[in-house]
Amino acid sequence: MPSEPNHILEFPGGYTRSTGPVIGRFLTELRAGRIVGVRTAARKVLVPPLEYDPETGEPTLTTPGQTGPVRDPVREPALSYDFVEVGPAGTVREWTWVDPPRKNHPLDRPFAWALIRLDGADTSLVHAVDAGTVKAMRAGLRVWPRWRPDRVGSITDIECFVPEVTTIVANVRTAYTVTPGGALGRYLDGLSRNVFLAGQCPTCRSVYVPYRLSCPQCGSVIDDEVEVGPGGSVTTFAINNLPDPRAPQVPFVSAYILLDGADIPIIALLAEVPAGEVAEGMRVRAVFEGGTVKWFAPEREA
Ligand SMILES: [Zn+2]
Repeated sequence: MPSEPNHILEFPGGYTRSTGPVIGRFLTELRAGRIVGVRTAARKVLVPPLEYDPETGEPTLTTPGQTGPVRDPVREPALSYDFVEVGPAGTVREWTWVDPPRKNHPLDRPFAWALIRLDGADTSLVHAVDAGTVKAMRAGLRVWPRWRPDRVGSITDIECFVPEVTTIVANVRTAYTVTPGGALGRYLDGLSRNVFLAGQCPTCRSVYVPYRLSCPQCGSVIDDEVEVGPGGSVTTFAINNLPDPRAPQVPFVSAYILLDGADIPIIALLAEVPAGEVAEGMRVRAVFEGGTVKWFAPEREA
């Protein structure tokens, strides 16, 4: 347990220092919502910019007119240094998670301190990443700055960085009525008589359920109707722990079932068996109710 501090260093009103031409330009650009670095003689772009190349000790500023242009020589004729606009997006190189944040931290919720390599830069910038959760953080994460609306020319004009948008949640709701066509109509008609109707390809002999009119493998027209099932075997299955409107009790098992005589499995509910006892290869049989398949259940020994 650290003891309470007994010394305080404070400059009432703040400590004022001049920025110099390099940091001054960097901060002025931040106020305008841009991030710039400075290019060294070795053509490396330092962000944040430094007045001296840390590798050689040479000044990073070049003589006016000698090398690189300013972005706008008409509006800013006095600034002839080799500044380069970078980012605004970048990539997280290293990071550490801060939870809980301290009083002086830029965010009042858990966040990451990260070394961010802005696009076009050769060095990394330390800044906060508001990722929401530690699980969202990783090396290689693409981030963008979140700018403050009231910028003053400070590194805190960037409130923080935020992960690049990679997914959206769209509100999707479509009401529709299915009118079964020829193939599906025949299949449903079969179900109403407690029969699974499949189509058999006259060329490759593959048997498809539900019944369909053409072979997806060889393209042949299918007009040969065969009955499959109602027994079959489980090829793969999932134990679901989130309730579904069609299966409100959890856990429930959804399974791919290869009906006897068919070459492709159908997906269906599997019930009348504890979820933990379902296994690949388990023999099952359709339970019909009200003209359709209620679910599949383990085949009982006769
Ligand atoms: Zn075929």
